[in-house]
Amino acid sequence: MLKFEIITLFPELFKEHLNNMPFKRAFKKNLAEIKLHNLRDYAIDKRGTVDGTTYGGGVGMILMVEPIYKALKTVMNYTDEQMKNFKQNAGAEKTRVILLSPNGVKFNQSVAEKLSGLSKIVLICGRYEGVDARIQEYFCTDTVSIGDYVLSGGEIPALAIMEAVVRLIPGTILKEEATKIESFADGKLEYPQYSKPENFMGLKVPEILLTGNHRKIEEWRRVNSRKTQ
Ligand code: SAM
Repeated sequence: MLKFEIITLFPELFKEHLNNMPFKRAFKKNLAEIKLHNLRDYAIDKRGTVDGTTYGGGVGMILMVEPIYKALKTVMNYTDEQMKNFKQNAGAEKTRVILLSPNGVKFNQSVAEKLSGLSKIVLICGRYEGVDARIQEYFCTDTVSIGDYVLSGGEIPALAIMEAVVRLIPGTILKEEATKIESFADGKLEYPQYSKPENFMGLKVPEILLTGNHRKIEEWRRVNSRKTQ
């Protein structure tokens, strides 16, 4: 069972997506569990403050260190003493605490494979201009980016990572073979695939795929798989 703990200001953004595949089956079969933690519940005051201006000046607000610290303390079930050595303590468990940020390690299929073998993954979703730098420095084990572009929050990155990881948990995808022959599984992109009709307004399916000659079809697919960059 792989447990995800998501720290976010917008838990409602996840709900619809998590009601569908591959999550639906993973939850039903107890292969994965996802808990959403609203950062607002860890605000520094009764008004619900979680963000502040940046020291040294700059546009916009960033998420403050204290609410994220408090959320992590709850999620990890740590004492203040354990929080002092956060990286060391969290790193010693089969757990990863991941800050989502454009400055992180680039997410790809091999990162997804490594994550799929863990028992707990905490994802910290930033918002606004980002997150107080002390979180990255002291209170996470990894920082991950889903690509060289900037989104408004970590929620879509969190969903992308969870979906890629959950698909790799044995039993989530019914035809497990599918995940083994998909793009990236062997360092290559998947070959082109076609369905009915054979001829759509003059656009024809490659002849070889209609022959039933499995050896030749395999060879055609091998040749037509593109290498990843
Ligand atoms: N000011 C930050 C910068 O220039 O790098 C961008 C902050 S972004 C508007 C707000 C949040 O969205 C980030 O803290 C992060 O959690 C998330 N985010 C945006 N782009 C991302 C990406 N490519 N990968 C992962 N997280 C991303």
